Amino acid sequence: MSDLREKYEAVIGLEVHAQLLTKSKMFCACANQYGAEINTNICPVCTGQPGALPTVNQRAVELGIRAAIALDCQIRSESIFARKNYFYPDLPKGYQISQYEKPYCEHGKITVRLKSGEEKTFGITRIHFEEDAGKNVHASHGTVVNLNRAGVPLIEIVSEPDMRNSHEAGQYLRALHSILRYGDICDGNMEQGNFRCDANISVRKRGETKFGTKVELKNINSFRFVEKAIDYEIDRQIDMVEKNEPIRQQTRTWNSAKNITELMREKESAHDYRYFPEPDLSPLVISSAWLEDIKKVMPEMPVQVRERFQKEYGLSDYDAGVLTASKDLALYYQEAVKVSNNSKASANWVANELLGRLNAAGKEIDQSPVKSDQLGDLIIRIDKSEISGKIAKTVFEEMFATGRNPGDIIKEKGLVQISDTGAIEAAIDKVIAANPTQVADYKAGKVKLLAFFVGQVMKETKGQANPGMVNELVKKKLD
Ligand SMILES: [Zn+2]
Repeated sequence: MSDLREKYEAVIGLEVHAQLLTKSKMFCACANQYGAEINTNICPVCTGQPGALPTVNQRAVELGIRAAIALDCQIRSESIFARKNYFYPDLPKGYQISQYEKPYCEHGKITVRLKSGEEKTFGITRIHFEEDAGKNVHASHGTVVNLNRAGVPLIEIVSEPDMRNSHEAGQYLRALHSILRYGDICDGNMEQGNFRCDANISVRKRGETKFGTKVELKNINSFRFVEKAIDYEIDRQIDMVEKNEPIRQQTRTWNSAKNITELMREKESAHDYRYFPEPDLSPLVISSAWLEDIKKVMPEMPVQVRERFQKEYGLSDYDAGVLTASKDLALYYQEAVKVSNNSKASANWVANELLGRLNAAGKEIDQSPVKSDQLGDLIIRIDKSEISGKIAKTVFEEMFATGRNPGDIIKEKGLVQISDTGAIEAAIDKVIAANPTQVADYKAGKVKLLAFFVGQVMKETKGQANPGMVNELVKKKLD
């Protein structure tokens, strides 16, 4: 496929639904609470009873504005709520309140770092407010419509079709997720569906300006699945174009067990939601005074944390960028430093050893088998010369595989560094006795042989001797 990938260009745009971290729903006072008993967080408004009137949740709007500020969007001083009409059993009103022609903000951007080290900026078309629908719960005795989620506040963040491959799409999503988490705008829990992504993908021959027919991938709930699904979809579409088969406008879903995308439904024409302005709500007014108040209490954003890490911990811009890529990662690093009291070593261990292994294992930082205090503990043991840096890597490997504490592993495997002069001298004597020719050469002036003796002593002690001490003692013995 790689040759064909050269011939084609993929065009990818992403739509993210992010649930806002409010206590109550978007248009009523019901609790916004995951996992509550079925149909306990409902009222006449969110169940669409005749005559019930919505009122806008001010906190939800504030959080939406935070997102708009963080994503460099132009904010409308007056935006309009609109009805998006469609029928579905979990939508008792027969419409969702959303925003259509006049969303509260537009024209934003987000800058992400790619694995090449290069930074790339992607456009954000718009963000609008929306309420979530309920959920159909299928059980053995039938289906229950759970309306606890009906009316929960969302923002939908729509990107420009600026991404060209799965990696760019994945990094866009991670950066967006990170900003929403840093801003306490959304908790980012993808398993609960609080941050979910639809991807629009089309392919065209390189140099062509017209877009190909796009296919929509729906509700993918992990970064890695998004990347895999996009890759699969790009190859599938290229294959079809190569065979002169028409690409049909479809909505597809990712089957993570089979590693393929599957057809959900054909989209013969765009949905007609018959949007019209919501008659029960006045326009949403965002005054400049309110905007200023929100700016004043904005939580620290990734860019600011990155600067702080450089100042506070003496990290390079690059390392600070890597370690602040997500709020969870930044927190992990800060906790490791708190324990180890060594910011540079902690940065190296987290950015290289830990992230490398997590990446290879397909895990995110919150799934790390090594906890931040355990890593801090390991670093203390290196700094105290209890173990060498080399042995520490072996210990870390075991920690990653088992989640056990470094102290237990070191004790059990007898990995403590030998810093006992007597023991090291005994090993040196052994090496000297076994290599008379090299000893004679060294004494005759071949001082380069020092490295040979050090190497032999390290071998003799199974790498556990303190290398600094070995160096010093070998010299003393031979001179
Ligand atoms: Zn309600």
